[in-house]
Amino acid sequence: IHLTKVTGNLDDCACDVETINAFNNDLLYPKLQTLLESDYFRLYKVNLNKPCPFWTDHSHCGVRDCAVKPCSPNEVPEGIRLSSHHKVSQFSQKMKVEPTGCSAVFSSEETREAVLDWSKHDDEAERFCVVDDEESPDAQYVDLLLNPERYTGYKGPEAWQIWNSIYEENCFKPYTVPRPLNPATFYSSTGNEGERTFYSWLEGQCVEKRAFYRLVSGLHASISVHLSARYLLGDNWFERKWGPNASEFQQRFDSELTKGEGPKRLRNLYFLYLIELRALAKALPFFQQASFQLYTGQLEQDQKHKEQLLDILQLARSFPLHFDETALFAGDREEAAKLKEDIRLSFLNISKIMDCVGCFKCRLWGKLQTQGLGTALKVLFSERQIEALPKSRTGWPTFQLSRQEIVALLNAFGRVSTSIKELQNFRSLLSEQQ
Ligand code: FAD
Repeated sequence: IHLTKVTGNLDDCACDVETINAFNNDLLYPKLQTLLESDYFRLYKVNLNKPCPFWTDHSHCGVRDCAVKPCSPNEVPEGIRLSSHHKVSQFSQKMKVEPTGCSAVFSSEETREAVLDWSKHDDEAERFCVVDDEESPDAQYVDLLLNPERYTGYKGPEAWQIWNSIYEENCFKPYTVPRPLNPATFYSSTGNEGERTFYSWLEGQCVEKRAFYRLVSGLHASISVHLSARYLLGDNWFERKWGPNASEFQQRFDSELTKGEGPKRLRNLYFLYLIELRALAKALPFFQQASFQLYTGQLEQDQKHKEQLLDILQLARSFPLHFDETALFAGDREEAAKLKEDIRLSFLNISKIMDCVGCFKCRLWGKLQTQGLGTALKVLFSERQIEALPKSRTGWPTFQLSRQEIVALLNAFGRVSTSIKELQNFRSLLSEQQ
Protein backbone atom coordinates (compact mmCIF):
# COMPACT_ATOMS: atom_id res chain seq x y z
CA ILE A 1 0.00 0.00 0.00
CA HIS A 2 1.56 3.23 -1.07
CA LEU A 3 -0.68 5.65 0.76
CA THR A 4 2.04 5.97 3.33
CA LYS A 5 3.82 8.16 0.82
CA VAL A 6 1.61 10.96 2.07
CA THR A 7 3.87 11.84 4.97
CA GLY A 8 6.34 14.53 5.87
CA ASN A 9 6.44 18.16 4.88
CA LEU A 10 3.89 19.71 2.57
CA ASP A 11 5.24 21.88 -0.20
CA ASP A 12 4.59 25.60 0.15
CA CYS A 13 4.05 25.35 3.89
CA ALA A 14 6.09 24.49 6.90
CA CYS A 15 4.07 21.69 8.41
CA ASP A 16 3.73 17.97 8.23
CA VAL A 17 0.86 15.61 7.64
CA GLU A 18 1.23 13.79 10.97
CA THR A 19 0.79 17.05 12.92
CA ILE A 20 -2.35 17.88 10.96
CA ASN A 21 -3.77 14.37 11.50
CA ALA A 22 -3.32 14.57 15.26
CA PHE A 23 -4.68 18.13 15.49
CA ASN A 24 -7.69 17.42 13.30
CA ASN A 25 -8.69 13.94 14.36
CA ASP A 26 -8.31 14.33 18.11
CA LEU A 27 -9.11 18.00 18.70
CA LEU A 28 -10.92 19.83 15.98
CA TYR A 29 -13.05 17.22 14.21
CA PRO A 30 -15.24 16.23 17.22
CA LYS A 31 -15.99 19.86 18.15
CA LEU A 32 -16.83 20.76 14.58
CA GLN A 33 -19.20 17.83 14.15
CA THR A 34 -21.16 18.90 17.22
CA LEU A 35 -21.47 22.48 15.95
CA LEU A 36 -22.58 21.39 12.48
CA GLU A 37 -25.54 19.55 14.00
CA SER A 38 -27.04 22.83 15.24
CA ASP A 39 -30.06 24.34 13.45
CA TYR A 40 -28.01 27.28 12.25
CA PHE A 41 -25.46 25.14 10.43
CA ARG A 42 -27.51 22.18 9.25
CA LEU A 43 -29.96 24.32 7.25
CA TYR A 44 -28.52 25.62 3.98
CA LYS A 45 -30.53 27.67 1.52
CA VAL A 46 -29.73 26.81 -2.06
CA ASN A 47 -31.19 27.03 -5.55
CA LEU A 48 -30.69 23.64 -7.19
CA ASN A 49 -32.76 24.57 -10.22
CA LYS A 50 -30.60 27.21 -11.84
CA PRO A 51 -30.00 26.45 -15.52
CA CYS A 52 -26.48 25.54 -16.62
CA PRO A 53 -25.01 28.69 -18.21
CA PHE A 54 -22.41 26.86 -20.32
CA TRP A 55 -24.08 24.14 -22.32
CA THR A 56 -27.59 23.11 -23.22
CA ASP A 57 -27.69 19.46 -22.23
CA HIS A 58 -29.93 19.65 -19.18
CA SER A 59 -30.30 15.94 -18.64
CA HIS A 60 -30.63 15.18 -14.95
CA CYS A 61 -29.54 11.80 -13.83
CA GLY A 62 -32.44 9.71 -12.62
CA VAL A 63 -30.31 7.88 -10.08
CA ARG A 64 -32.24 7.37 -6.85
CA ASP A 65 -29.32 8.42 -4.66
CA CYS A 66 -28.99 11.73 -6.48
CA ALA A 67 -32.29 13.02 -5.08
CA VAL A 68 -32.31 15.85 -2.52
CA LYS A 69 -35.15 16.23 -0.05
CA PRO A 70 -35.76 19.92 0.75
CA CYS A 71 -37.31 21.09 4.03
CA SER A 72 -40.90 22.16 4.26
CA PRO A 73 -41.19 25.80 5.52
CA ASN A 74 -42.44 24.78 8.96
CA GLU A 75 -39.26 22.75 9.53
CA VAL A 76 -37.16 25.92 9.39
CA PRO A 77 -37.04 28.12 12.53
CA GLU A 78 -38.60 31.52 11.97
CA GLY A 79 -35.41 33.31 12.97
CA ILE A 80 -33.50 31.65 10.15
CA ARG A 81 -36.19 32.39 7.58
CA LEU A 82 -36.21 36.04 8.66
CA SER A 83 -32.46 36.55 8.50
CA SER A 84 -32.06 34.77 5.17
CA HIS A 85 -34.97 36.65 3.71
CA HIS A 86 -32.97 39.81 4.22
CA LYS A 87 -29.67 38.32 3.01
CA VAL A 88 -27.90 39.26 6.14
CA SER A 89 -25.47 38.23 8.75
CA GLN A 90 -26.51 39.16 12.21
CA PHE A 91 -25.19 42.58 12.97
CA SER A 92 -26.31 46.10 13.43
CA GLN A 93 -24.62 49.39 13.89
CA LYS A 94 -27.62 50.36 15.96
CA MET A 95 -27.09 47.60 18.46
CA LYS A 96 -26.00 48.67 21.86
CA VAL A 97 -22.92 46.75 22.83
CA GLU A 98 -22.54 45.87 26.49
CA PRO A 99 -19.42 47.41 28.03
CA THR A 100 -18.14 43.92 28.82
CA GLY A 101 -18.26 42.92 25.17
CA CYS A 102 -18.77 39.25 24.40
CA SER A 103 -21.63 38.35 26.68
CA ALA A 104 -24.05 40.92 25.34
CA VAL A 105 -27.59 39.57 25.10
CA PHE A 106 -30.16 41.31 22.96
CA SER A 107 -33.89 41.33 23.09
CA SER A 108 -35.72 39.67 20.20
CA GLU A 109 -37.01 43.02 18.97
CA GLU A 110 -33.56 44.60 18.91
CA THR A 111 -32.16 41.61 17.10
CA ARG A 112 -34.96 41.54 14.57
CA GLU A 113 -34.42 45.23 13.82
CA ALA A 114 -30.70 44.68 13.55
CA VAL A 115 -31.13 41.84 11.14
CA LEU A 116 -33.36 43.92 8.89
CA ASP A 117 -30.82 46.74 8.85
CA TRP A 118 -28.32 44.61 7.04
CA SER A 119 -30.31 44.01 3.93
CA LYS A 120 -28.82 46.85 1.89
CA HIS A 121 -25.15 46.07 2.01
CA ASP A 122 -23.65 44.79 -1.22
CA ASP A 123 -20.18 43.33 -1.40
CA GLU A 124 -20.46 41.71 -4.82
CA ALA A 125 -17.03 42.93 -5.94
CA GLU A 126 -15.31 41.01 -3.14
CA ARG A 127 -16.99 37.69 -3.84
CA PHE A 128 -15.07 34.69 -5.15
CA CYS A 129 -18.27 32.78 -5.70
CA VAL A 130 -21.69 33.22 -7.22
CA VAL A 131 -24.21 33.48 -4.42
CA ASP A 132 -27.65 32.07 -5.08
CA ASP A 133 -30.45 34.55 -4.95
CA GLU A 134 -32.11 33.55 -1.73
CA GLU A 135 -35.26 35.42 -2.69
CA SER A 136 -35.81 33.24 -5.74
CA PRO A 137 -38.89 31.00 -5.42
CA ASP A 138 -36.61 28.15 -6.53
CA ALA A 139 -34.28 28.56 -3.54
CA GLN A 140 -35.05 26.05 -0.81
CA TYR A 141 -33.72 25.09 2.59
CA VAL A 142 -32.01 21.75 2.69
CA ASP A 143 -31.21 19.87 5.88
CA LEU A 144 -27.61 18.80 5.29
CA LEU A 145 -27.80 16.09 7.95
CA LEU A 146 -30.68 14.42 6.10
CA ASN A 147 -28.94 14.65 2.72
CA PRO A 148 -25.41 13.46 3.45
CA GLU A 149 -22.64 13.58 0.88
CA ARG A 150 -21.93 9.98 -0.15
CA TYR A 151 -21.70 7.64 -3.12
CA THR A 152 -24.43 8.45 -5.64
CA GLY A 153 -23.41 6.55 -8.77
CA TYR A 154 -22.95 9.79 -10.76
CA LYS A 155 -20.07 9.04 -13.14
CA GLY A 156 -19.13 8.67 -16.81
CA PRO A 157 -18.72 11.32 -19.53
CA GLU A 158 -21.05 13.85 -17.88
CA ALA A 159 -19.13 13.89 -14.60
CA TRP A 160 -15.87 13.99 -16.54
CA GLN A 161 -17.05 16.96 -18.56
CA ILE A 162 -17.65 18.86 -15.33
CA TRP A 163 -14.24 18.06 -13.86
CA ASN A 164 -12.51 18.93 -17.14
CA SER A 165 -14.31 22.27 -17.37
CA ILE A 166 -13.30 22.99 -13.79
CA TYR A 167 -9.64 22.24 -14.47
CA GLU A 168 -9.75 24.36 -17.60
CA GLU A 169 -10.36 27.35 -15.36
CA ASN A 170 -6.69 26.99 -14.40
CA CYS A 171 -5.71 28.35 -17.74
CA PHE A 172 -6.42 31.94 -16.83
CA LYS A 173 -7.63 33.16 -20.19
CA PRO A 174 -6.35 34.46 -22.54
CA TYR A 175 -4.27 31.33 -22.97
CA THR A 176 -0.58 31.98 -23.26
CA VAL A 177 0.43 28.33 -23.08
CA PRO A 178 -1.00 25.29 -24.83
CA ARG A 179 -4.09 24.56 -22.77
CA PRO A 180 -3.05 22.00 -20.19
CA LEU A 181 -6.18 20.48 -18.73
CA ASN A 182 -5.79 18.00 -15.97
CA PRO A 183 -2.86 15.61 -15.89
CA ALA A 184 -5.17 12.68 -16.54
CA THR A 185 -6.40 14.12 -19.81
CA PHE A 186 -2.82 14.54 -20.88
CA TYR A 187 -1.85 11.20 -19.59
CA SER A 188 -4.52 9.30 -21.46
CA SER A 189 -3.98 11.16 -24.71
CA THR A 190 -0.22 11.43 -24.76
CA GLY A 191 1.12 9.11 -22.06
CA ASN A 192 4.04 10.08 -19.82
CA GLU A 193 5.05 12.92 -22.10
CA GLY A 194 1.69 14.61 -21.55
CA GLU A 195 1.91 14.23 -17.81
CA ARG A 196 5.38 15.80 -17.81
CA THR A 197 4.08 18.67 -19.93
CA PHE A 198 1.35 19.36 -17.42
CA TYR A 199 3.63 19.40 -14.41
CA SER A 200 6.35 21.45 -16.07
CA TRP A 201 3.65 23.93 -17.06
CA LEU A 202 2.36 23.96 -13.49
CA GLU A 203 5.85 24.48 -12.04
CA GLY A 204 6.35 27.42 -14.40
CA GLN A 205 3.29 29.15 -12.97
CA CYS A 206 3.52 31.64 -10.16
CA VAL A 207 2.74 30.46 -6.65
CA GLU A 208 -0.82 31.82 -6.81
CA LYS A 209 -1.80 29.82 -9.87
CA ARG A 210 -0.20 26.67 -8.49
CA ALA A 211 -2.13 27.20 -5.27
CA PHE A 212 -5.36 27.59 -7.21
CA TYR A 213 -4.86 24.25 -9.00
CA ARG A 214 -4.04 22.54 -5.73
CA LEU A 215 -7.18 23.85 -4.05
CA VAL A 216 -9.41 22.52 -6.83
CA SER A 217 -7.58 19.20 -6.88
CA GLY A 218 -7.90 19.03 -3.07
CA LEU A 219 -11.64 19.56 -3.35
CA HIS A 220 -11.86 16.81 -5.98
CA ALA A 221 -9.85 14.49 -3.70
CA SER A 222 -12.12 15.26 -0.76
CA ILE A 223 -15.21 14.31 -2.80
CA SER A 224 -13.50 11.07 -3.86
CA VAL A 225 -12.65 10.23 -0.23
CA HIS A 226 -16.26 10.79 0.82
CA LEU A 227 -17.80 8.68 -1.86
CA SER A 228 -15.37 5.87 -1.01
CA ALA A 229 -16.03 6.22 2.73
CA ARG A 230 -19.82 6.18 2.37
CA TYR A 231 -20.19 3.75 -0.46
CA LEU A 232 -23.33 1.71 -1.18
CA LEU A 233 -22.23 -1.69 0.11
CA GLY A 234 -25.52 -3.56 0.11
CA ASP A 235 -28.86 -2.92 -1.55
CA ASN A 236 -31.74 -5.32 -1.02
CA TRP A 237 -35.41 -5.25 -0.03
CA PHE A 238 -34.64 -4.99 3.66
CA GLU A 239 -31.82 -2.53 3.89
CA ARG A 240 -29.40 -0.30 2.07
CA LYS A 241 -26.02 -0.36 3.72
CA TRP A 242 -23.41 2.40 3.44
CA GLY A 243 -19.80 2.16 4.53
CA PRO A 244 -16.13 2.33 3.55
CA ASN A 245 -15.06 0.67 0.31
CA ALA A 246 -11.31 0.18 0.57
CA SER A 247 -10.82 -1.00 -3.02
CA GLU A 248 -12.67 2.05 -4.42
CA PHE A 249 -10.38 4.19 -2.30
CA GLN A 250 -7.29 2.35 -3.57
CA GLN A 251 -8.36 2.75 -7.19
CA ARG A 252 -8.38 6.48 -6.67
CA PHE A 253 -5.40 7.03 -4.38
CA ASP A 254 -2.95 4.15 -4.40
CA SER A 255 0.38 5.36 -5.71
CA GLU A 256 0.97 2.46 -8.13
CA LEU A 257 -2.59 2.20 -9.40
CA THR A 258 -2.69 5.92 -10.12
CA LYS A 259 0.88 6.14 -11.45
CA GLY A 260 1.92 8.39 -8.60
CA GLU A 261 -1.05 10.77 -8.85
CA GLY A 262 -2.98 9.54 -5.77
CA PRO A 263 -0.53 10.72 -3.08
CA LYS A 264 -0.18 14.11 -4.83
CA ARG A 265 -3.96 14.50 -4.73
CA LEU A 266 -4.04 13.66 -1.04
CA ARG A 267 -1.36 16.26 -0.42
CA ASN A 268 -3.59 18.74 -2.21
CA LEU A 269 -6.38 17.77 0.18
CA TYR A 270 -4.12 18.67 3.13
CA PHE A 271 -3.22 21.91 1.41
CA LEU A 272 -6.93 22.75 1.08
CA TYR A 273 -7.36 21.90 4.77
CA LEU A 274 -4.63 24.35 5.76
CA ILE A 275 -5.99 27.15 3.61
CA GLU A 276 -9.50 26.80 5.03
CA LEU A 277 -8.14 26.44 8.57
CA ARG A 278 -6.18 29.65 8.08
CA ALA A 279 -9.30 31.42 6.83
CA LEU A 280 -11.20 30.36 9.96
CA ALA A 281 -8.39 31.63 12.15
CA LYS A 282 -8.41 34.97 10.34
CA ALA A 283 -12.18 35.29 10.53
CA LEU A 284 -12.11 35.19 14.35
CA PRO A 285 -12.41 38.98 14.93
CA PHE A 286 -15.47 39.05 12.69
CA PHE A 287 -17.28 36.38 14.71
CA GLN A 288 -16.03 37.82 18.00
CA GLN A 289 -17.96 41.04 17.54
CA ALA A 290 -20.41 41.33 20.38
CA SER A 291 -23.25 42.08 18.01
CA PHE A 292 -22.73 38.94 15.94
CA GLN A 293 -25.14 36.10 16.56
CA LEU A 294 -25.81 32.71 15.04
CA TYR A 295 -29.39 33.86 14.97
CA THR A 296 -32.19 31.30 14.88
CA GLY A 297 -34.50 33.05 17.34
CA GLN A 298 -33.66 30.75 20.28
CA LEU A 299 -31.38 33.13 22.10
CA GLU A 300 -29.94 30.77 24.71
CA GLN A 301 -29.11 28.09 22.14
CA ASP A 302 -27.74 30.71 19.78
CA GLN A 303 -25.39 32.03 22.45
CA LYS A 304 -24.19 28.49 23.26
CA HIS A 305 -23.48 27.80 19.59
CA LYS A 306 -21.64 31.09 19.22
CA GLU A 307 -19.38 30.05 22.12
CA GLN A 308 -18.77 26.67 20.44
CA LEU A 309 -17.91 28.43 17.19
CA LEU A 310 -15.47 30.80 18.90
CA ASP A 311 -13.86 27.85 20.64
CA ILE A 312 -13.25 26.19 17.25
CA LEU A 313 -11.86 29.39 15.75
CA GLN A 314 -9.51 29.86 18.72
CA LEU A 315 -8.34 26.32 18.15
CA ALA A 316 -7.75 27.11 14.48
CA ARG A 317 -5.70 30.14 15.59
CA SER A 318 -3.65 27.99 17.93
CA PHE A 319 -2.47 25.70 15.12
CA PRO A 320 1.12 26.84 14.82
CA LEU A 321 2.29 25.70 11.43
CA HIS A 322 0.06 27.51 9.03
CA PHE A 323 0.53 27.89 5.36
CA ASP A 324 1.97 31.34 4.83
CA GLU A 325 -0.56 33.03 2.58
CA THR A 326 1.27 36.32 2.99
CA ALA A 327 3.57 34.92 0.29
CA LEU A 328 0.56 35.10 -2.03
CA PHE A 329 -0.17 38.34 -3.84
CA ALA A 330 2.97 39.83 -2.36
CA GLY A 331 4.42 41.05 -5.65
CA ASP A 332 4.14 44.42 -7.29
CA ARG A 333 0.85 46.08 -6.19
CA GLU A 334 -0.66 46.32 -9.62
CA GLU A 335 0.36 42.82 -10.59
CA ALA A 336 -0.90 41.42 -7.28
CA ALA A 337 -4.27 43.07 -7.73
CA LYS A 338 -4.56 41.64 -11.24
CA LEU A 339 -3.67 38.15 -10.06
CA LYS A 340 -6.20 38.33 -7.28
CA GLU A 341 -8.83 39.42 -9.80
CA ASP A 342 -7.85 36.60 -12.23
CA ILE A 343 -8.22 34.05 -9.49
CA ARG A 344 -11.46 35.56 -8.27
CA LEU A 345 -12.99 35.43 -11.75
CA SER A 346 -11.80 31.88 -12.40
CA PHE A 347 -13.27 30.80 -9.12
CA LEU A 348 -16.54 32.56 -9.92
CA ASN A 349 -16.69 30.50 -13.10
CA ILE A 350 -16.12 27.28 -11.21
CA SER A 351 -19.03 28.13 -8.97
CA LYS A 352 -21.19 28.64 -12.08
CA ILE A 353 -20.14 25.25 -13.47
CA MET A 354 -21.75 23.70 -10.39
CA ASP A 355 -25.16 24.51 -11.91
CA CYS A 356 -24.27 22.05 -14.70
CA VAL A 357 -23.80 19.07 -12.38
CA GLY A 358 -26.52 16.62 -13.39
CA CYS A 359 -26.88 14.84 -10.03
CA PHE A 360 -28.74 17.01 -7.52
CA LYS A 361 -27.02 15.58 -4.45
CA CYS A 362 -23.60 16.17 -6.05
CA ARG A 363 -24.75 19.64 -7.12
CA LEU A 364 -25.83 20.50 -3.58
CA TRP A 365 -22.50 19.51 -2.01
CA GLY A 366 -20.52 20.86 -4.97
CA LYS A 367 -22.20 24.25 -4.59
CA LEU A 368 -21.76 24.28 -0.85
CA GLN A 369 -18.08 23.35 -1.00
CA THR A 370 -17.19 25.85 -3.72
CA GLN A 371 -19.08 28.57 -1.87
CA GLY A 372 -17.23 27.59 1.32
CA LEU A 373 -13.86 27.76 -0.39
CA GLY A 374 -14.81 31.02 -2.13
CA THR A 375 -15.73 32.46 1.28
CA ALA A 376 -12.40 31.25 2.72
CA LEU A 377 -10.56 33.11 -0.08
CA LYS A 378 -12.67 36.20 0.53
CA VAL A 379 -11.67 36.09 4.21
CA LEU A 380 -7.98 35.52 3.46
CA PHE A 381 -7.81 38.50 1.19
CA SER A 382 -9.76 40.80 3.49
CA GLU A 383 -7.38 40.60 6.41
CA ARG A 384 -7.05 44.35 6.88
CA GLN A 385 -10.81 44.95 6.84
CA ILE A 386 -11.39 42.15 9.35
CA GLU A 387 -8.70 43.38 11.72
CA ALA A 388 -10.22 46.87 11.54
CA LEU A 389 -13.72 45.65 12.43
CA PRO A 390 -13.88 46.30 16.16
CA LYS A 391 -12.96 49.93 15.51
CA SER A 392 -15.47 50.46 12.75
CA ARG A 393 -18.64 50.94 14.73
CA THR A 394 -19.74 53.98 12.82
CA GLY A 395 -21.00 53.60 9.28
CA TRP A 396 -21.24 50.23 7.57
CA PRO A 397 -18.56 47.74 8.54
CA THR A 398 -16.04 47.21 5.79
CA PHE A 399 -16.41 43.45 5.86
CA GLN A 400 -19.35 41.14 6.24
CA LEU A 401 -20.50 37.60 5.56
CA SER A 402 -24.04 36.49 4.77
CA ARG A 403 -25.62 33.60 6.66
CA GLN A 404 -25.31 31.47 3.52
CA GLU A 405 -21.56 32.18 3.32
CA ILE A 406 -21.07 31.38 7.01
CA VAL A 407 -22.97 28.09 6.74
CA ALA A 408 -20.99 27.17 3.59
CA LEU A 409 -17.62 28.13 5.13
CA LEU A 410 -18.06 25.96 8.21
CA ASN A 411 -19.69 23.02 6.44
CA ALA A 412 -17.09 23.02 3.64
CA PHE A 413 -14.37 22.91 6.25
CA GLY A 414 -16.35 20.18 8.02
CA ARG A 415 -16.15 18.12 4.80
CA VAL A 416 -12.37 18.46 4.50
CA SER A 417 -11.91 17.77 8.19
CA THR A 418 -14.05 14.61 7.80
CA SER A 419 -11.94 13.53 4.81
CA ILE A 420 -8.76 13.77 6.89
CA LYS A 421 -10.45 11.70 9.58
CA GLU A 422 -11.61 9.14 6.96
CA LEU A 423 -8.03 8.76 5.72
CA GLN A 424 -7.12 7.42 9.13
CA ASN A 425 -9.92 4.81 8.85
CA PHE A 426 -8.73 3.77 5.41
CA ARG A 427 -5.14 3.48 6.60
CA SER A 428 -6.19 1.03 9.30
CA LEU A 429 -8.57 -0.88 7.00
CA LEU A 430 -5.85 -1.30 4.40
CA SER A 431 -3.19 -2.31 6.90
CA GLU A 432 -5.58 -4.97 8.32
CA GLN A 433 -5.96 -6.38 4.80
CA GLN A 434 -2.20 -6.76 4.30
P1 FAD B 1 -13.24 11.39 -11.60
O1 FAD B 1 -13.24 11.58 -10.13
O2 FAD B 1 -14.46 11.74 -12.36
O3 FAD B 1 -12.01 12.23 -12.18
C1 FAD B 1 -11.81 12.45 -13.58
C2 FAD B 1 -10.30 12.41 -13.87
O4 FAD B 1 -9.68 13.50 -13.18
C3 FAD B 1 -9.70 11.13 -13.28
O5 FAD B 1 -9.56 10.12 -14.22
C4 FAD B 1 -8.36 11.57 -12.76
O6 FAD B 1 -7.34 11.27 -13.66
C5 FAD B 1 -8.45 13.07 -12.56
N1 FAD B 1 -8.52 13.31 -11.11
C6 FAD B 1 -9.20 12.59 -10.18
N2 FAD B 1 -9.04 13.11 -8.97
C7 FAD B 1 -8.23 14.18 -9.11
C8 FAD B 1 -7.70 15.11 -8.19
N3 FAD B 1 -7.99 15.06 -6.89
N4 FAD B 1 -6.89 16.08 -8.67
C9 FAD B 1 -6.61 16.17 -10.00
N5 FAD B 1 -7.08 15.32 -10.92
C10 FAD B 1 -7.90 14.32 -10.48
N6 FAD B 1 -20.04 11.17 -6.95
C11 FAD B 1 -20.59 10.60 -5.85
O7 FAD B 1 -20.73 9.38 -5.79
N7 FAD B 1 -20.99 11.36 -4.77
C12 FAD B 1 -20.86 12.71 -4.77
O8 FAD B 1 -21.25 13.39 -3.81
C13 FAD B 1 -20.27 13.35 -5.92
N8 FAD B 1 -20.14 14.69 -5.99
C14 FAD B 1 -19.65 15.26 -7.14
C15 FAD B 1 -19.55 16.65 -7.21
C16 FAD B 1 -19.09 17.24 -8.38
C17 FAD B 1 -19.01 18.74 -8.44
C18 FAD B 1 -18.72 16.43 -9.50
C19 FAD B 1 -18.24 17.08 -10.76
C20 FAD B 1 -18.80 15.06 -9.42
C21 FAD B 1 -19.26 14.45 -8.25
N9 FAD B 1 -19.35 13.07 -8.15
C22 FAD B 1 -19.88 12.51 -7.02
C23 FAD B 1 -18.80 12.21 -9.20
C24 FAD B 1 -17.33 11.83 -8.86
O9 FAD B 1 -16.57 12.98 -8.53
C25 FAD B 1 -16.62 11.13 -10.02
O10 FAD B 1 -16.71 11.94 -11.17
C26 FAD B 1 -17.16 9.74 -10.32
O11 FAD B 1 -17.12 8.95 -9.16
C27 FAD B 1 -16.34 9.04 -11.43
O12 FAD B 1 -15.00 8.90 -10.99
P2 FAD B 1 -13.78 8.59 -11.93
O13 FAD B 1 -12.96 7.54 -11.26
O14 FAD B 1 -14.25 8.34 -13.30
O15 FAD B 1 -12.85 9.90 -11.93
